[in-house]
Amino acid sequence: MGKIDEIIKEKGLTPKDCEYHTRRLLENDGKIRVLVIKGIPVAYAEYKCPKCGHEGYSEQEYKKVSKASKIRLRVECEKCHLNIKVDKLKGKKEKKK
Ligand SMILES: [Zn+2]
Repeated sequence: MGKIDEIIKEKGLTPKDCEYHTRRLLENDGKIRVLVIKGIPVAYAEYKCPKCGHEGYSEQEYKKVSKASKIRLRVECEKCHLNIKVDKLKGKKEKKK
């Protein structure tokens, strides 16, 4: 079970408690999942780096980005320091599970 699943279970979160929750598939079999809980300005990110394959977890400050920005947030791979970008999905609703 992933770290984000643990947080959800531990805090008993339901989708309406989440400000932002997304899963993305990246190139080279990489992936990233990001969770932001309402009222807490922290982005919890779980990822598999598309460059080095490292599976990691990070917490960072979650800042609202400007409307013009195409990138919602960046997570740095703790191993190879690649910036993994989470871009905004334009015009469609993000899938919730
Ligand atoms: Zn990496």
